[in-house]
Amino acid sequence: MNWDALLEPLARLCSGTPRRAEPLRRHTTLRVGGPAALFYKTRDLDEFARISVWAHQARVPVFIMGHGSNLLVSDQGIPALVLYNACRQVQIGEETYAETGVAFQELFLKTAQAGLSGLEFAVGIPGTLGGALVSNAGAYRNNIADLLLEIDLVSDGVRQRVPPDWMGFSYRDSRLRQPDAPPTSLLAVRLRLRRDCRRAILQRAREFQRQRILKQPPESSAGSFFKNVYDRALAERLPNLPAPMREAGVVPAGYLIEACGLKGYAIGGACVSRKHANFLINRGWASASDFHRLALHIERVVFEIYGVRLEREVLRVGEWGDAENMP
Ligand SMILES: Cc1cc2nc3c(=O)[nH]c(=O)nc-3n(C[C@H](O)[C@H](O)[C@H](O)COP(=O)(O)OP(=O)(O)OC[C@H]3O[C@@H](n4cnc5c(N)ncnc54)[C@H](O)[C@@H]3O)c2cc1C
Repeated sequence: MNWDALLEPLARLCSGTPRRAEPLRRHTTLRVGGPAALFYKTRDLDEFARISVWAHQARVPVFIMGHGSNLLVSDQGIPALVLYNACRQVQIGEETYAETGVAFQELFLKTAQAGLSGLEFAVGIPGTLGGALVSNAGAYRNNIADLLLEIDLVSDGVRQRVPPDWMGFSYRDSRLRQPDAPPTSLLAVRLRLRRDCRRAILQRAREFQRQRILKQPPESSAGSFFKNVYDRALAERLPNLPAPMREAGVVPAGYLIEACGLKGYAIGGACVSRKHANFLINRGWASASDFHRLALHIERVVFEIYGVRLEREVLRVGEWGDAENMP
């Protein structure tokens, strides 16, 4: 792909200036990642839609970026037009309209101030509403899919409104996480919220926040690196698993990683947090391949000891060469 040649037709669609080779480590919470072939930050929904339609129709690879809080971007970067979504308009009500570049926590605060309940679980989840939709973000047995009424999106070059089913949601997953997903830009959504007392809403959110602060390490991370494991037989044979988890048949990935003795284990600048074993943190000098090697090591050890294949929650994107064979 001749990226220099694409700058001019792209610039004609943009109110600002697209850039070549923007380092993506500036835009990810892991603080790693090489350059984007092309990079543009859009703040206007119609512009976002227009650029998406053009890119899909011209077969230009496009990658939508929120706040980069669920991404492991390769050191080689992303050979695509990276569209940074900063479209943040909202209209708050029992039926709330929100553009997908709004920060998930900001959306919670605005709805809570208006006495609307439903998004309390979003407190402490960094990132945009768009990123939350793609991974069906959630916490404390709530997730974003349950609140959705309708989505405005561009998929395969066509702008359309679709029902929530279109996304194929499941636990921390949607069709947009699959490798064969159609190119799609999520533009805006309508959400259903419930009226409640403002004080009660903020009290619930404060309690979630308190639990989070106790558990989460403060260093740069992408949150939980692996998904929890739903396996009743495994849950029943683990001696120290807390009873509510055994009853629900769920084994936290962090429990398995810690039980394998991997807390504090490091490769290069990437390290398993001592505070929470499912958080891989940047010690300040990590590369993306340090994180990938560390994740491969964890996957291997957990499989050898427990026979469980951990699934990654953090999305690995960009060019990786023969990364699968990294030692
Ligand atoms: C400290 C910490 C705690 C966390 N806690 C939680 C938690 O409790 N629960 C939880 O679920 N997650 C958690 N996360 C993970 C992360 O914050 C969420 O997955 C978040 O919703 C990702 O949003 P983002 O804007 O950063 O997405 P990004 O990381 O920028 O992108 C993620 C994916 O979504 C796609 N995407 C983003 N926006 C759009 C769009 N508009 N259209 C199409 N595709 C899009 C991207 O292309 C990419 O594939 C945590 C992360 C951190 C760092």
